[in-house]
Amino acid sequence: MIAETHRDEVAIQGGALPEILLPTNCPGCGIALVMDNLRAHNYVCTECGHHFRLGADVWISLIADNGSWQERWSDVRSHDLLNWTVPKPYQETVERLLEDGLNESVRTGTCTLSGRPIWLATFDFGFVGGTLSIVAGERLARGMEQAAASGIPYILVSASGGARMQEGVLALMQLAKVNAAVGRLHSARVPYFSILTDPTFGGTAASLALVADINIAEPGAAIGFTGPRVIKQATYADLPPGFQSAEFQLAHGQVDMVLPRTELRPLLAQLLEMYA
Ligand SMILES: [Zn+2]
Repeated sequence: MIAETHRDEVAIQGGALPEILLPTNCPGCGIALVMDNLRAHNYVCTECGHHFRLGADVWISLIADNGSWQERWSDVRSHDLLNWTVPKPYQETVERLLEDGLNESVRTGTCTLSGRPIWLATFDFGFVGGTLSIVAGERLARGMEQAAASGIPYILVSASGGARMQEGVLALMQLAKVNAAVGRLHSARVPYFSILTDPTFGGTAASLALVADINIAEPGAAIGFTGPRVIKQATYADLPPGFQSAEFQLAHGQVDMVLPRTELRPLLAQLLEMYA
């Protein structure tokens, strides 16, 4: 059954951008959502603290100073190099998503945050599950290389199911490519902050999302490599309570902090000042 949804237009530089769909009631506590209220609290439920999943456009509007976003390499496009047809032709899927106003699983560009220049990359789970593709890898690596060369801090927001199976080993190659680019950031001593949102899994978690200088997870976000259902099917083992939640990963040293979204921007501004 498809839940009733609000349609929320998000406007950032350049006018109205693709809508995000939100349920009319909070899945955490069931209260009826008031859009203005939700928007004012960065799409976090004021009753129970449920963090709603957001598209790339909304993340850009939450992090970038108003009017500062300059998108890069938005014209780089995916191609069906493997003639993938199951369950439907890959090229058709990509074209439909482009028509819907999405532009790949990763968007990248420059902006300012509290007046300080940054490189920003955001995954978009709405585009083939935020999967790491050739285009996503290329946008990430190019941005990191330019950040390393210019000394401008790099901020990543991830929400991803892992590598894109429709691009096969070519998608898997992106893990090594983006991690080499992360290595260039580290060698150049350029700050790199990673924000892990619900869900961050597979190759994305195993490569760039968990190797930043500071890895910040959102409360309740599912973070891991293989999902708990698959692990249980393979091992028949009972998994511990809260397995692969942000809080579980914090207790096991995989992330550095779990931070409510409403406190994220002030923290990033503080980190940029400290690292400067
Ligand atoms: Zn709620």
